[in-house]
Amino acid sequence: MKAENTTKIQFDSLSINEAYARSVVAAFLARYDPTVPQLADLKTAVSEAVTNCIVHAYPDRIGPVTLCVADKGVGIPDVPQAMEPLFTTGNPEERSGLGFAVMQSFMDRVKVTSRPGKGTKVVLIKRLSARAST
Ligand code: ATP
Ligand code: MG
Repeated sequence: MKAENTTKIQFDSLSINEAYARSVVAAFLARYDPTVPQLADLKTAVSEAVTNCIVHAYPDRIGPVTLCVADKGVGIPDVPQAMEPLFTTGNPEERSGLGFAVMQSFMDRVKVTSRPGKGTKVVLIKRLSARAST
C-alpha cells in the first residue's frame, strides 16, 4: 500500500529533540483527525523509537535521526533478540529493555531493519479507522 502522504524530518540525536519529535508527529497526524487516545499511543511509540536512536545508535557521538525513525548508527546485530521484552544492551540502571515492547503494544505493526555498522530503521504502522462524523 502506498502512503497518501509522507514526511521526513531529521534532527540531531540529542535527548532534547525527543519532545520535538513527538510534537512533530502530533502536528503531522492532526490532519487525520486522530482521537486523543490514538494520538497518545502514536506519540508514545515514536518517543520510544527516537529515544533508542539517541541512547543506542550513537554511543560516542551525536548523529542524524530521521523520522520515519532511522539512524546511521551502530546497528543491531540480532533484531529478534533486541525486540524481546526486557532485553537491553544499555545501562540496566537506566534502561528497562521495554522500548520495542511498548512500540509493539501501541502499534499494529513494528518493522525493524538494521545492519551492524550501517544503522537501524523502525517503521511504525497504525491504522486509524475513520471516525464517525458528528
Ligand atoms: P528502554 O527502551 O526500556 O529504556 P532499551 O532501549 O534497552 O530500554 P529497547 O528499546 O526494547 O530497550 O531496545 C532493545 C535493545 O535493542 C537496546 O538495548 C539496544 O541494544 C538495541 N537497539 C534498539 N534501538 C537501537 C538503535 N536505534 N541502534 C542500535 N541499537 C538499538
Ligand atoms: Mg529503548
